[in-house]
Amino acid sequence: MANMSLEKQKMPELAPDIRNKNFEEVALGYTKEQALTEAARCLQCKNKPCVGGCPVQIDIPAFIKKITEEDFEGAYQIISASSALPAVCGRVCPQESQCEGRCVRGIKGEPVAIGRLERFVADWHMANAAEAPQKPRSNGKRVAIIGSGPAGLTYAGDLARKGYEVTVFEALHVAGGVLVYGIPEFRLPKSIVAKEIEGLKALGVKIETNMVIGRIQSIDELFEQGFDSVFIGSGAGLPNFMGIPGENLKGVFSANEFLTRINLMKAYEAESETPVWKGNRVAVVGGGNVAMDAARCAKRLGAEEVSIVYRRSMDEIPARKEEIHHAIEEGIVFRTLTNPTEVLGDEHQNVIGIRCVEMELGEPDERGRRRPIVKEGSEHILPMDTVIMAIGTSPNPLIRSTTPGLETNRWGCIVTEEATGKTSREGVYAGGDAVTGAATVILAMGAGKEAAKAIDEKLSK
Ligand code: FAD
Ligand code: SF4
Ligand code: SF4
Repeated sequence: MANMSLEKQKMPELAPDIRNKNFEEVALGYTKEQALTEAARCLQCKNKPCVGGCPVQIDIPAFIKKITEEDFEGAYQIISASSALPAVCGRVCPQESQCEGRCVRGIKGEPVAIGRLERFVADWHMANAAEAPQKPRSNGKRVAIIGSGPAGLTYAGDLARKGYEVTVFEALHVAGGVLVYGIPEFRLPKSIVAKEIEGLKALGVKIETNMVIGRIQSIDELFEQGFDSVFIGSGAGLPNFMGIPGENLKGVFSANEFLTRINLMKAYEAESETPVWKGNRVAVVGGGNVAMDAARCAKRLGAEEVSIVYRRSMDEIPARKEEIHHAIEEGIVFRTLTNPTEVLGDEHQNVIGIRCVEMELGEPDERGRRRPIVKEGSEHILPMDTVIMAIGTSPNPLIRSTTPGLETNRWGCIVTEEATGKTSREGVYAGGDAVTGAATVILAMGAGKEAAKAIDEKLSK
């Protein structure tokens, strides 16, 4: 019989005043008993509305049913038929706007905790059943992938399983894309990403790190080396700035640089060779997941006060609800309807504050979000010693500037054919943030999957 509780099983978590001083994972995962109790909330709807909210269409009621039968490996097999990185998605998917956003239990009460159940199953599999996959027999075809984020890794796994010889070229010294350099350890332990990558290597996927395509070699040179196709999954890692005075002062960072130093280079550890700026009064400008991650990292580095400075209200803030909730619990201050107009510095060029204006919300813009308008006479100064810009990223121009004939749009994103990832260059496919601009892990994975299917159909003719 279904469990008719209106609330999800609570996720066990580290206490806020302990976790805001360390980088350990905040959410600890369901116990078996919690997973069984939560799974019993699923009504096994015949029309499966939740599945329509999942970009890779995991058969959600089917995997939840397996949990109720305590067949956790069976549940894993159902999830992994559609998703290459379930332990990652169960942790970082914006479930409230995807699968859980469509769950009928959410009409009156909280939706079924689909993401937490997915994480439970993936973690159970890793702890109990994960076996190194066997390397399939080669089909003699060679594919190259640029970038080892979720788009590239999904594409790599799907084709390696079909016998393709897959080589991933990654600019950084560690594979994983944003999963390793952007999303902090306390949300997504890097050991999980490393295990997923080990699985791909066992399938025969070669990963060449420190390989900047467009600098060390071009896409044309990859074809000259005998690759049958190239997939571009190079993400959108170029940070945007506001273009206001004072952004060159000492103490102003892009969230990307700040997070990379911390996550990839472990700059918070005493023995790390990479330094990181430890501010006392930190302003993080922006309201997305990246802003929440930067703010929570700054707090963990010991800042006295960390503020999110966001130009719209809490109703429009785009970060995942869970991240906002965690940030508030950890003591992050939310200065909404506030927009910086200048970063102020002292005679040594060090940041001493930000000049801001208050905002009001006007008519909706083309995306339906109410447009922020400056409130007359609202200028004020907030004393700060650090400013972290988290106002979005764009694709790096390197690939498009070194690949003749590759069509891009006015935002620098690669133009592709819908549902295949085919670009304007013969044999070149693309997917993930490089195509959509900054989006989500699961959308990048979905794009990698579609492109892998399309290239397989083309090359296996
Ligand atoms: P990426 O993950 O960006 O990977 C691209 C890879 O390509 C990188 O490793 C890069 O080094 C490499 N590369 C780039 N250029 C070259 C080149 N010329 N040669 C070789 N390699 C190259 N999404 C969610 O769903 N939930 C979240 O909670 C969430 N939080 C986020 C937090 C942060 C801080 C950030 C930055 C993003 C977050 N996202 C989140 C977004 C999500 O991580 C991205 O949408 C996703 O990683 C995009 O995947 P991708 O494979 O397209 O690119
Ligand atoms: Fe939900 Fe993401 Fe899992 Fe799909 S992959 S079911 S959207 S948590
Ligand atoms: Fe279960 Fe909710 Fe999906 Fe219905 S919509 S099958 S209750 S998860």
